[in-house]
Amino acid sequence: MSKAIRDNVQRVRKTIEAACRRVGRDPAEVSLLLATKTVSVEKIREALAAGEVLLGENRVQELQQKAVALADAPVEWHFIGHLQRNKVRDAVRHASCIHSVDRLRLGNRLHNRLTRENKRMDILVQVNTSYEESKFGVPPEGAVELVTQLARLETLRIRGLMTIGKFGAAEHETREGFRRLRRIRDDIRARNIPGVEMDELSMGMSGDLALAVEEGATIVRVGTAIFGERAYPDSYYWDEGGSR
Ligand SMILES: *Cc1c(COP(=O)(O)O)cnc(C)c1O
Repeated sequence: MSKAIRDNVQRVRKTIEAACRRVGRDPAEVSLLLATKTVSVEKIREALAAGEVLLGENRVQELQQKAVALADAPVEWHFIGHLQRNKVRDAVRHASCIHSVDRLRLGNRLHNRLTRENKRMDILVQVNTSYEESKFGVPPEGAVELVTQLARLETLRIRGLMTIGKFGAAEHETREGFRRLRRIRDDIRARNIPGVEMDELSMGMSGDLALAVEEGATIVRVGTAIFGERAYPDSYYWDEGGSR
């Protein structure tokens, strides 16, 4: 077994701790989610051997295959990619939380499925804090309304918000996006909407996780910094060409 992945996990954990220290946060408030798209089951097992348990996939088929292959391991799966309505059934089967709910139609579909299975599920609402065309997510101005609508679907436990930082942006701009997400979270919290918890902020990836932790992230989603560069461009995962 190579040491590289274990070392990378430890380095990322140290980055999180250092960022927490700078702003007086407790590192225990921050969960590390490993973004495992394109990563082999063997490599994922190396990260698990380093003590990690929280994994995230972007595509339902890949989630399903890996969840089956790792059924013997004590892992928790989150779904972090754009979710198409016809994939909801398998997503619900394997994931305990969906980070990417960004429209009511998807919420309704999830609710129907969960109702049929007599289940409840954690969700995060994805917000497009950078206003980039290529990104999924509800625009910041629409977040309160979407959360209010989703809150009526009693199978969905709305735990917080998720965003993807602006690509290739200057630090202050990235930070501003994360702050925007936190302000929306605070605004929604202050409204005390029944059924809405708003404890989680899923933000920060390999390139901007320290900033995200400084700005209040409770879940950082990290792939490259642990598993190395991916073979596919991320546009393959983020922009499915109008498949909403
Ligand atoms: C791939 C991915 C990540 C991790 O990105 P890295 O830059 O490799 O750390 C985080 N969030 C989402 C939604 C992703 O698709």
